[in-house]
Amino acid sequence: MNIILLGPPGSGKGTQAKNITSEYGYVQLSTGDMLRAEYCSDSKIGLELKALMDGGNLVSDEIVIGIVEERIFQNESTTGFMLDGFPRNKAQAKKLDAMLAVKNEHINMVLRLLVDDEVVVRRIAGRRFHLKSGRSYHVEFNPPEISGKDDLTGDFLVQRADDNEEVVQSRLDIYREQTEPLVKYYEEKNVLVSIDGIGTPDEIFARIKTALEQ
Ligand code: AMP
Repeated sequence: MNIILLGPPGSGKGTQAKNITSEYGYVQLSTGDMLRAEYCSDSKIGLELKALMDGGNLVSDEIVIGIVEERIFQNESTTGFMLDGFPRNKAQAKKLDAMLAVKNEHINMVLRLLVDDEVVVRRIAGRRFHLKSGRSYHVEFNPPEISGKDDLTGDFLVQRADDNEEVVQSRLDIYREQTEPLVKYYEEKNVLVSIDGIGTPDEIFARIKTALEQ
């Protein structure tokens, strides 16, 4: 199975991608995480990525497709890929289809997480991360035991530079304009499944499991 998680920023794609990967053993491919790893380096490309990503803009298709391609062809996954944050526009979706076709594979299911904009903004504004592990918290919905610190290591938690209200609005606009047309693209391929994305992470994961096991 190759699966895509589709949804606006803050819809829970990262959290659910981790749940799906640990339950079913897929290889997680999260372009946001991969780009953030590169962004943390002081290289020229790292600085370019930082400027684009902090402002909520999309990185060029060329860069993103390059990193996805490397992972897809490098990885001899027997279970399949769990894609989160990719594709984000039609050009990326078409390129992904072509890459999988080379391996005689295709996208089996696109899980679309449905969440209102209002919920997205509240979720994003309170999001905090443990940088080294990627563990995520929310100041209101999933607070750490000690405020501002990771439960396991005690390290300080950080907020993503693009997780603030102004940038979120522009990320949502970009999502509507460039990514949402993929709903129709995958609907026409009969692989789209819509999931109610409101509730606790466990409730949402239970809905995803039902969809995957049908
Ligand atoms: P995410 O963690 O998925 O919210 O992605 C964070 C940022 O990484 C986005 O706002 C973009 O700047 C960049 N990014 C991630 N995935 C893609 C993609 N498929 N295409 C272009 N830019 C991306």
